[in-house]
Amino acid sequence: MNFSEQEVERYKRQVMMDGWGEEMQVKLKNSTVFIAGAGGLGSPVSIYLAVCGIGHIRICDFDSPDMSNLNRQILHDESRIGTNKAISAKMTLERLNPSIEVTAITDKIEAHNADAIVGDSAIILDCMDNFPTRYVLNETAIKKSIPLVYGSIWGMEGRLSFIQSPETPCLRCLFADAPPKEVFPVVGATPGVIGTLQAIETIKYLTGIGRNLKNKMLVWNGTAMEFNTFKAKKDPNCITCSGK
Ligand SMILES: [Zn+2]
Repeated sequence: MNFSEQEVERYKRQVMMDGWGEEMQVKLKNSTVFIAGAGGLGSPVSIYLAVCGIGHIRICDFDSPDMSNLNRQILHDESRIGTNKAISAKMTLERLNPSIEVTAITDKIEAHNADAIVGDSAIILDCMDNFPTRYVLNETAIKKSIPLVYGSIWGMEGRLSFIQSPETPCLRCLFADAPPKEVFPVVGATPGVIGTLQAIETIKYLTGIGRNLKNKMLVWNGTAMEFNTFKAKKDPNCITCSGK
C-alpha cells in the first residue's frame, strides 16, 4: 500500500516508535473499527484513532448533543447542538484527518441490528453509558469472534478491560446485572483518561504490539491518582458465555 506524501509526514513520529515502521501503519490503514457511542468516551477514542490513521471508523450514536454534554464530549461544540452525534463526529474526525474514511451510523444499537451496524469491524469500542446496550455489543463481539474494549467512567474514576471471550471473561461475566441508569457526575478529563487508554488498547491489538489488558480490570482513581489492576474472572454460570 502506498501512502501519500502528506500521510508519510503525518505519521512520521509514530512510525519512528520501536517495532513500528511502515508495516504497522499499513495495518492501521487497512483496519475498520466500530465505536459505539460518540459521547464522553467516544470523543477521545475516536479522535485518537482517527489521528493515528485507522483507515475506516464506523461510529454510531442516535442522540444529538446538548449544552450539558459539552464539558466532556469534545467531538462536538455549540454549533452542533441538535445535529446527530455520529454525523457531528464524522465532521470533526474528517477535519482532523482527511485521509481516513468515517461512516456515521445514526441508529440506536439493538439486538436486531447490532450485527449489521458493527459490520466487518475488527474490534468494538464500548463507549456506551448504559448496560442493556453494552450487553448487546458483548453478544455481537462473541458472535463475530472480535474483541470488545470496555471503558466506563464516574466522577473522577474509571475502569478499563480488554474483553475477548472465550480467552477472557465476557462483559456479562464481569457485570451480571445492569446497574441502574442514572445521571452521574463527571469531569471531562475522566473520559479523556479512560478513552485514551481504550484507544491505546485498540492500536496495540491492531498492530500486534504490546500486550492487551486481558483477564484484568484496571481501575483508575483520579482523586487519589492511583491505578490498580484486578483479576477478571469468568463466571461459570454466565448466561451469555457459559453455554448454560
Ligand atoms: Zn460471560
